[in-house]
Amino acid sequence: MKKTLFAIIVTLVSVTFAGSAFAAKYKYVTIGTGGVTGVYYPTGGAIAKMVNVKKKQYGIRATVESTGGSVFNINAIMAGDLEFGIAQSDRGYQAWYGMADWKKAGKQTKLRSVFSIHPESITLVVSGKSGIKNCSDLKGKRVSVGAPGSGTRKNSMDALSTCGLTLKDLGTVEGLKSAEGSKMIQDDRIDGFFFTVGHPNGSIKESTAGRIKVQFVPFTNTKDLLNKYSYYANAAIPVSAYPGVQNSADVPTFGVKATLVTSADVSENIVYAVTKEVFENFERFKKLHPAYANLKKEQMLEGLTAPMHKGALKYYKEAGLMK
Ligand code: GLU
Repeated sequence: MKKTLFAIIVTLVSVTFAGSAFAAKYKYVTIGTGGVTGVYYPTGGAIAKMVNVKKKQYGIRATVESTGGSVFNINAIMAGDLEFGIAQSDRGYQAWYGMADWKKAGKQTKLRSVFSIHPESITLVVSGKSGIKNCSDLKGKRVSVGAPGSGTRKNSMDALSTCGLTLKDLGTVEGLKSAEGSKMIQDDRIDGFFFTVGHPNGSIKESTAGRIKVQFVPFTNTKDLLNKYSYYANAAIPVSAYPGVQNSADVPTFGVKATLVTSADVSENIVYAVTKEVFENFERFKKLHPAYANLKKEQMLEGLTAPMHKGALKYYKEAGLMK
């Protein structure tokens, strides 16, 4: 009996030691994403999956964190709390030049680009009973314009500006996470919510599949906005992705790109590994989310403002994607 107990203890102790040696073998790198029903969260998961196949070779293990979104991710990377983050291309631009949310903090000179990913469109979902058909109908309505820390918030304000409205013209301004937006529209507690997001995604699926019928609102008066901000482009929301929605044709709006960003302080080896594994396993990566359907490697080097991180650059040169 004593012998058995001794053997058990020895085994437990050695397993614990082996376990901690195992843990110490890897450097953990965390990717900041967004809400779990958006596209950032599964995108972080897809990137981590590619990298973790080779965790032994690189000695790194990628993990994913659900966050408030673009602005939170950039700030957390700059503070050294996250190694990577997904952020809208417009937010990367503003952070690099010290604009919008970074007006006070100034230029984020350590921000670095890795690659751009899927397109995201400024999406306004409203309930059928709200009577909102176009931008100017938003006057006096209960609208969520994106959670603090999200990239969405500034896009909502820009969208309102296309019909001369500001946040002050809304009846109630909510700052909900996307998952809450879908829920609250179904509870009739809001008339609509904005979400800058890739399609298809879980949040919009949830809101379009409920009891209360919803529709997308088009933004067509975007010429001035597109002239003023180089990061905006015309976009369309594919209605075929959402069978329950009331629109019968794709809805015109404007959009940005999701990008993977990091800091100049993150080591070349780590960024090289992440870049290489996504690009070398591209077909497998693309299958991980329907929002990547039209992704092309060359386009993933476009739409970025902050300089390329040297680890990413090393891979792009090696692969002949950059000179
Ligand atoms: N673009 C959104 C934001 O930064 C997040 C989208 C997502 O989670 O897919 O606010």
